[in-house]
Amino acid sequence: MGNLLIDNIGELVTNQVGTGTGGPLGIRRKAAVLVEEDRIAWIGPAKYAPAADRRIDVDGRAVLPGFVDSHAHLVFAGDRAAEFAARMSGQPYTGGGIRTTVAATRAAGDDDLRATVARLRAEALRQGTTTIEIKSGYGLSVADEARSLRIAAEFSPETTFLGAHVVPTEYAARPDDYVGLVCGPMLTAALPHAKWIDVFCDRGAFDADHARAILTVGQAAGLGVRLHANQLGPGPGVRLAVELGAASADHCTHLSDADVEALASTSVDGVTSTVATLLPGAEFSTRSPYPDARRLLDAGVTVALATDCNPGSSYTSSMPFCVALAVREMGMTPAEAVWAATAGGAAALRRGDIGVLRPGARADLTVLDAPSHLHLAYRPGVPLISQVLHNGVPQ
Ligand SMILES: [Zn+2]
Repeated sequence: MGNLLIDNIGELVTNQVGTGTGGPLGIRRKAAVLVEEDRIAWIGPAKYAPAADRRIDVDGRAVLPGFVDSHAHLVFAGDRAAEFAARMSGQPYTGGGIRTTVAATRAAGDDDLRATVARLRAEALRQGTTTIEIKSGYGLSVADEARSLRIAAEFSPETTFLGAHVVPTEYAARPDDYVGLVCGPMLTAALPHAKWIDVFCDRGAFDADHARAILTVGQAAGLGVRLHANQLGPGPGVRLAVELGAASADHCTHLSDADVEALASTSVDGVTSTVATLLPGAEFSTRSPYPDARRLLDAGVTVALATDCNPGSSYTSSMPFCVALAVREMGMTPAEAVWAATAGGAAALRRGDIGVLRPGARADLTVLDAPSHLHLAYRPGVPLISQVLHNGVPQ
């Protein structure tokens, strides 16, 4: 194999602020990157680039860390295009359609589910996503949650047990019993395949007491905590996330001042240990008001952007699309949005080896068919990803 030099980079986004770099994205001009196996070995001016066994000349293009999509639901069967069309005809989004996907997922074979995850994973990679978190949550039985996570783990180390997505139909009259199932046999079956645990804490899903019970037992079993919070309306989710030391509170669409203060209070050295992960694809696809990223950023909260890729409320795998929405609709600057889609996602997954380009980091990077990261928001909907390296391997 030998090493590989990415040469003649016009703009290199490193997310490493400091000597020799500019702006909040740690930008270097006329740079080169040396890759050895799956890691970055050297970064510096192109004119000082070392000799290498192989060389890719990117001809002045921009290079940035691969996108880190820290929130996606890829293990499912069927689609809900008709539900989307109905919403666009004026029907509100309630989250009730999740049960439609649960029925289809339970009826699907392992190979069908695996093929869907593979297709969406490949689709995301083509759009520059080198890390993607994958949740269960459309099985909602012990066996179906376990197999969803087993299949997810074939595609990503960032797997999340979301048995508490909604209460399945057969438990509708006895939600306490379902919470008992999630905390007991379902968690036990999920543990070998999961790194994280998540709960949909919102109206129509799980309340704070149920969410706390589930997340606490998952945490005690060794899983990291993340939480679907404050998507559909105001509620206790964000404060619960902070209370439990969650890595991320996701959605954060309806926040009180107390919610914002709680998130900001987790700040250590300028990064909040509970990240606010914003998912504008969901607001786009449900025609809902976008979260106010500016308010969070101004309060000192670390913000991540992710796709929420799922067949109901956000069927996009495109991080560039989310960057463009964040800039146009959520008050983020292009630099803030690109940071949130790379380093922000890494913070939401508590990963220091991705979302950043520095010696020792994973060699996950994206070459844009453009001279600057600004083009991601400036040229929305345009396929700007010209090349992706994942674990040092050109895709
Ligand atoms: Zn979600």
